[in-house]
Parts: sequence; C-alpha cells; structure tokens
Amino acid sequence: MKEEGGGERRELPLVGRARAHGDRTAIRATEGSFTYDDLMSASEAVARALLGERDDLGEDRVAFLVPPDFQYAAVQWGIWRAGGIAVPMAVSHPPRELAYVLEDADPVAVVAHPSLMERLGEARGLPVLSSAALVGGAAGGRFGASPEGSALRVLPDVDSSRRAMMLYTSGTTGRPKGVVTTHANVEAQVRSLVEAWAWTPEDHILLTLPLHHVHGIVNVLTSALWSGAHCTILPNFQEAAVWNEIARDDLTLYMAVPTIYAKLLAAWELAPPERRQAWSEGCRSLRLMVSGSAALPVSMLERWREVSGHTLLERYGMTEIGMALSNPLEGERRPGFVGRPLPGVDVRLVGEDGRPVDDGEPGEIEVRGPTVFSEYWRRPDETEASFHDGWFSTGDMAVLEDGAYRILGRSSVDIIKTGGFKVSALEVEEVLRTHPSVADCAVVAVPDPEWGERVAVALVLAAGVSEPPGGTELRAWMKEQLAPYKVPSLFMTLPELPRNAMGKVTKPAVQELFAEDGAGVDPE
Ligand code: AMP
Repeated sequence: MKEEGGGERRELPLVGRARAHGDRTAIRATEGSFTYDDLMSASEAVARALLGERDDLGEDRVAFLVPPDFQYAAVQWGIWRAGGIAVPMAVSHPPRELAYVLEDADPVAVVAHPSLMERLGEARGLPVLSSAALVGGAAGGRFGASPEGSALRVLPDVDSSRRAMMLYTSGTTGRPKGVVTTHANVEAQVRSLVEAWAWTPEDHILLTLPLHHVHGIVNVLTSALWSGAHCTILPNFQEAAVWNEIARDDLTLYMAVPTIYAKLLAAWELAPPERRQAWSEGCRSLRLMVSGSAALPVSMLERWREVSGHTLLERYGMTEIGMALSNPLEGERRPGFVGRPLPGVDVRLVGEDGRPVDDGEPGEIEVRGPTVFSEYWRRPDETEASFHDGWFSTGDMAVLEDGAYRILGRSSVDIIKTGGFKVSALEVEEVLRTHPSVADCAVVAVPDPEWGERVAVALVLAAGVSEPPGGTELRAWMKEQLAPYKVPSLFMTLPELPRNAMGKVTKPAVQELFAEDGAGVDPE
C-alpha cells in the first residue's frame, strides 16, 4: 500500500489481503452480512477509537469480551491495526476467571459487548469500551464513525514480527497461562493450514466454536479471512441450528471438536427420518470436515461416516503451536491416528533422556518452526523450561506407526504409571467406548501405595442402560483386548463427564471425584 507522499507502508498481510477481497462476503452472522470492505472500515474505526491521541498502541494489551459475531472480528482486527496485542476472553467464563485474565494480562483497556459488560464488574478500574459503540453503532449503522480529526492520521505500521495475540491455555492442568504469538506465528499457522487443506476464496465455513481458543480463531476465522472465503457464524452451539445450516447446501467446510460431533450425532439419531435425510444430504456439499483439540473416538469417526458420508480429518494441535499434525486431505485418513507434520512444522518424538526415539517407540512430541509461540506472558522461567535446543516440548506423548502419529495423551494426566508400566488413558478409553453399555468414559490415575498409580475409570452409561456393567465382567471383557495392567481396577459411574468451555474432559476434576472417600468401586 502506498502512503500519501509516496512512501511504502507496512501493513499486515492479513489486512492487505482483505483489502484485495473488497466486496466479497466475509462474515454472515446474527448482526447481518458483511463484506471485506465492511471489515476494513469497521476495524479502522475501532483502531482509531482505541488509539485516541496515540500513534501506536505499541503492543499494549487490549482484552475483549465479545461473542462470536462480526463485532468480534472488527474488534480483533482493530486492536491489531492499532498495534496492540489482542486478548480474547471466554464469553462462557464466570467473573472470577475473567478477573484472573485482566489481572494477569495487565491490559490498557477492555472492550466488551454491551450484553456482557456486567460480567466484568469493576474491571480493575480499566476503561471498559462498548464493542457496539466502537464498531460504529449496533446492526444497521454502518461504520467509519471516527473521532473527529483522527481520521486524517494514518494507522501505525505494524510489522509481522510484533506480538499479536495472547490466548489463555485451557487450564485443564494448572492455572491458565497467557500464550503469546506474533503476527508472523499466526500467519505461519494459517499458511500451513491453507496449504494443507487447500482453502480457496470459494470456501464457505460454518463457525460454531468459541473464539477464545486457537481452534476457532486460527483454524476457522483467520484461515477463512486470509483466504477471502466466507464465514457464517452461529453465536452459540445448537445441534438443530448447525444441522439446518449444513442442510442449506452451500457450506464447503466444517471444523469442530469431538464433543460437538457427538451432540450432532445424538440429535440426528433422535430426528424423524425426513429430517435425517435432509441433514445427511446437506453434508454432500461440504468438501471437508475436520475434528481436533481432543481425541476423536474411532467409534464416532465410523458413525459420522455412516451419517454424513465424510471421513472426519483428525488433526493435532495446541495453543502454543497452532496445528502440528494432520491426516491428509487426499489419501487415507487412518482412524485413531493424527497423520503427519503439517507444512512448515518440524515434529519429533523424544524419550525421557531427551533423545529422539525409534519408530514404534512412545515419546514426547516436540515441535519446532515458525508456528511456535514466542513466550508465556511474564513467565520467563516457564517459557525457558518448555524449550529444549529450540524445540518446544508439548507434554503430549505419541507413537509413530507405519508413517502416521498416534496420540497417547498428555503425560501429566493421560499417561498412568502403574506397577512399572506406562498406560495410555486414551488407548483404554478407546477400547471401553466400544462396550455396548458405555457411552463415554474418562480414564485417570489414582495414587496407590502398592502400584504407584492405579488405572481408574469414570463411566457414562449408554442411553437406556440403567445398571453399570459389573466391574468383574467388564474387566474380563477388557482383558480380551488389552494387556492386564492396562485394565482399570477402579470404577465409578457419572451422569456426565466434567468438561471445560472447549468441551474437553477436565481430568483433574475426575481425579478429585475418585479422591473422595469411598469413591470408586474395586471389583476384585
Ligand atoms: P489446547 O491448547 O486447548 O488446544 O489443548 C491442546 C491439547 O489438546 C494438546 O496438548 C493435546 O493434549 C490435546 N489434543 C489436541 N488435538 C488432539 C487430538 N487430535 N487427539 C488427542 N489430543 C489432542
């Protein structure tokens, strides 16, 4: 882009590309339908309002609490275009957790949707700005409402090496940490996915994921806007609404977590035959459906294939690294596996001695490359401890078998050390879910003086099953499929599993349930 007076201005590639996409539809949401030009002018209005008299936010943090909608994208881009670090907060989180983010991120301002302002309480005395007012008035009022005079000033140059975003880790283990990524990191994450999954401007994706997490932000929204594609946003997840969008016949992509696919399947099973047919037929216009952020049970992959005709593409990633491993777009997608490294991502598995392991041996996943985050916010020791020789240690265990990676789980919660053996909770869960009485389950470690840890399982019974299967019988059944030391020896039944906002099972909460007196039945 040329500056008045002839000089070349540095503009973020994402923004420059949007300028070129002009009057194509960028976002359709509850607020209406918006073009790339609309996004450019709305985000410019936000940037100008945030800047006020300043020339550049200079990587100051701006936290924002805005539901998934056009306003969300306009605020996020406005922060970026003003030179700030965008800190999205989870709209499902209670005041206490929002207060933690405000405390830790130390922002200069908070932008909140008018409907959510109350949730912020005093907001530590920070200026709280209304997203609706910044974007230039709620639906209907178009944009460009800049404070007088400031429209004459150009927005700051923002180089990709600057810090762009701070996402708080899910906190399934320990207190959430701010994961800081630069614009270059986000661009590398997006470019890798755009190449691997062949995004084009003709794509149309449905977004039903929360926008405080890498999955919704990078894989869906930013990849779509980078590509000049069309993103339809549903503000919250409702099974029938998602199915109806799919049945509208013009989507090409859908990406979700396994819990969402489970809910869609459950709604499909309950629907009358003609609706089932319309929903299943709607899946035909899609060219790709992706699952990730938690292990996809093979039984779910198979049922989804029967219902939709799609073999879900499972991929593996993490807030700190974006996506790292993916099944192929073309070619065989192996159930239970997460494929190979994505373009531009180096992946290796290392043993406890930090050395690469042989194929077929379990090891910790380490990742290197431009997609890897820059730091944990104000936690230099934790940042340093998570890198070895330039590789980021993910804390996840995997094994490479016949050229594809299989995730064994997080070493802190999913790898159970019992009587000198190591057991992958994910492998045991996979087997248990094939039992007709079991709808879902979570396998955890319970401390034990004799074994070090015992393998324990919380079961959710299948619909219509009121009595849990006898522990002895279940153990005998499992021993036919798993080595004896992998078979759980403590059982409990729950109406549902505790999950976080992303739908991931919070295993420490399951462990706490087992820690309660008398909890967990030992069948022997
Ligand atoms: P988050 O940073 O919230 O995205 O969580 C990342 C974690 O989710 C990873 O470290 C893995 O433990 C887990 N995860 C992501 N994708 C998968 C997958 N396909 N299979 C199993 N676990 C996964």
